[in-house]
Amino acid sequence: MQTSERIHFEAVVVDLHCDTLQDLQAGKRTLVPSGPQEGHIDLPRLKAGGVDVQVFALYIAPEMAGRGYQRAVELIEAFHREIQHNREAIGHARTVEEIESLLQQGKVAAVLAVENGDALEGRVENLDHLYAQGVRMLSLTWNHANALADGAREQVHGGLTPLGKDVIERMDELGMVLDVSHLSEQAFWQALEVAKGPVVATHSNAAALAPHPRNLTDEQLRAIAARGGVVGVNFYPEFLGRGDATVESVLEHITYMARVMGVDHVALGSDFDGISKTPAGLEDVSKVPAITRGLLARGYTEEEVKKILGRNALRVFREVWRH
Ligand SMILES: [Zn+2]
Repeated sequence: MQTSERIHFEAVVVDLHCDTLQDLQAGKRTLVPSGPQEGHIDLPRLKAGGVDVQVFALYIAPEMAGRGYQRAVELIEAFHREIQHNREAIGHARTVEEIESLLQQGKVAAVLAVENGDALEGRVENLDHLYAQGVRMLSLTWNHANALADGAREQVHGGLTPLGKDVIERMDELGMVLDVSHLSEQAFWQALEVAKGPVVATHSNAAALAPHPRNLTDEQLRAIAARGGVVGVNFYPEFLGRGDATVESVLEHITYMARVMGVDHVALGSDFDGISKTPAGLEDVSKVPAITRGLLARGYTEEEVKKILGRNALRVFREVWRH
């Protein structure tokens, strides 16, 4: 086995964001397809790509906002159906101990995260209900402004709302990871003032390389690092700043972020199944070993590669999921 293959499959690889659950909930496909491959993520390709921990987003689309909680529950139910059908190969993890136990059994560990606080329908109690159902991370917004905060593409509140502040405080108490991807810059800074622990941007890139409202400035990257958090590099060509993105474009963002933030604060957040285009050489999750090959070719040590692949993300989970 080549060194890069050995390192990749030895490492705990964590992907901080995918949108696969929507297809599964809609009945468009399953985690183990019987027909031709569709989308970017399924169980055979998670295995082929050596991805051990997959965060599944409960994405609340803007048109679902009025029934966001019900929508989150529908997605959770679809998640459990899939896990139940494939329990020899994947399990739901709510703690780092559960992640470790699943990995020891050779299974994929699946983590639930809300993308868009519209899932709360304006009620902090719904955060507790989602936590009780195993949700361990939440982004306050998607691109639009909502009752909690302004989004990357719509600013109406001047940042965070009082309810958004209450939600962050409750997340701190529960031990949930605050995902700052999709926030407006103003809401980002206000959220960091309220949050006590490390925060994560699960799927955002460096604005210095690709100016885009979904990406983060150097100051934002450094602030996340100073709090002990991580940023998951997003594979979407538009956020990489290149229509003709390749694996190299992803490696450019990783290298830039590692320089600005330190190698302890860079992670992966593919956005697979939520993106309409992928970089050449990273067409789906089975291609993730290309990142390890590329990092080693760029002179990263085995230790550094393993941090980026998953150790950094696990460190944050361990710190925030206290219970
Ligand atoms: Zn997103």
